[in-house]
Amino acid sequence: MQQPLGKEVAVVGGGPAGLLAAQRLAEAGCRVSIYEAQATVGRKFLVAGHGGFNLSNAEEAAPFAARYAARAPDFTGFLAHFSPTDLRAWAAELGISTFVGTSGRVFPEAHHKPADLLRAWVARLQALGVTLHVRHRWLGFGPNGALHLRHETTGEQTTVQPAATLLALGGASWAKTGSDGAWRPELERAGVPVVPFAPSNCGAEVAWSDFFREKVGRQPLKNVALSCGPETVRGEVMLTDYGIEGTPVYALTPQLRAQLAAGGPAVLHLHLKPDLEPAQLLEKLARRRPGKSVASFLGEALRLGTPVPTLLRELGPAIFPTAPTEAAALLSALPIPVTALRPLDEAISTAGGVAWGALDEHLMLRMRPGTFVAGEMLDWEAPTGGYLLQGCFSTGAWAARGLLSWLGQHP
Ligand SMILES: Cc1cc2nc3c(=O)[nH]c(=O)nc-3n(C[C@H](O)[C@H](O)[C@H](O)COP(=O)(O)OP(=O)(O)OC[C@H]3O[C@@H](n4cnc5c(N)ncnc54)[C@H](O)[C@@H]3O)c2cc1C
Repeated sequence: MQQPLGKEVAVVGGGPAGLLAAQRLAEAGCRVSIYEAQATVGRKFLVAGHGGFNLSNAEEAAPFAARYAARAPDFTGFLAHFSPTDLRAWAAELGISTFVGTSGRVFPEAHHKPADLLRAWVARLQALGVTLHVRHRWLGFGPNGALHLRHETTGEQTTVQPAATLLALGGASWAKTGSDGAWRPELERAGVPVVPFAPSNCGAEVAWSDFFREKVGRQPLKNVALSCGPETVRGEVMLTDYGIEGTPVYALTPQLRAQLAAGGPAVLHLHLKPDLEPAQLLEKLARRRPGKSVASFLGEALRLGTPVPTLLRELGPAIFPTAPTEAAALLSALPIPVTALRPLDEAISTAGGVAWGALDEHLMLRMRPGTFVAGEMLDWEAPTGGYLLQGCFSTGAWAARGLLSWLGQHP
């Protein structure tokens, strides 16, 4: 096999998937150019850093891969090639130490800001000789692997002819970070099937009454469990004026999306006291004395917060059941009808993207030999908790590996 030394390679998209691929390719001796449409790279990566910079997760390999649902068999390989341990070692090499939080999530140590990691990373790429072309938008393919580009400030159009290309153009949420999904028609024109985009890890809309909206506004429900069909997720949810959000809601978006697509009403079931055994809950409810208001009973006996009585009135029967079994059933599976998911642009991540059938096992486009794809623009989804960034890093490393091997076979 020929060495890729000195081969010109283009990486399009400067998010985590593209930057990691660029690093791997440059370390292997390629001459790498990154083309990024925005004025700076890693904008969505920095946004991810605002709300607790969750880089990966310390979960075991098998349950980790299972987070990618139908794509678990593919991700088993990607994660083995660039694992959460590799990610932590990579960050450490850039001077960013990480720790595992109580939930298993992997974060940079508090004194490292997301921008510190990005700065160190870009400096490493530059030291490796990677050329960064910001404000360069990929417009489409030309003949023989050529790429048409437009300078976003001057409007000047150019064509480059790399030996191989890696596309890492991101999903279609948070368009202001550059992840606008505008690449979809271009790839479709080139014959590449793309599964329609859909919001993933997003809030759910509930048609609250005006009274509920005014009275409750935005309030958390801590330590609850939320179910949709057979799936149950524990955590904190937030009641908002449009509906409900928070980690358990985000994790259930695939199930909600399926129920909504099937035309049926989508329903979440809220368990307000998941820590109590059913018998314990019944026993507490049986102690309710006549004359005691529902709100003060729920607050004192069950430590349920202020929005709960209003929530029960909004979604449950007009009068709180006196029979303990009925009351327990209500508190452990309060149905919340969901009318829609929040708009795609608000979602933390995107479902849909380049169809797996369009790719070979190296993440190369079957229709376009020499063009590889990585990151969120592929058709996969995973919950929050570090699985998104890890998925982008791992597919970036895997596609770079495939590209190097392809270059070796196509001098
Ligand atoms: C609010 C929020 C919080 C998040 N928090 C976390 C978290 O804590 N943990 C986690 O794991 N994940 C988190 N994520 C998700 C994570 O940020 C993304 O999954 C990840 O950034 C996707 O990486 P990517 O490289 O595939 O794409 P992106 O990061 O979207 O990068 C794609 C790049 O391609 C560029 N581009 C697009 N089209 C073109 C074109 N035609 N020509 C040239 N360049 C182009 C874009 O400008 C962009 O810079 C969060 C996301 C959001 C929105």
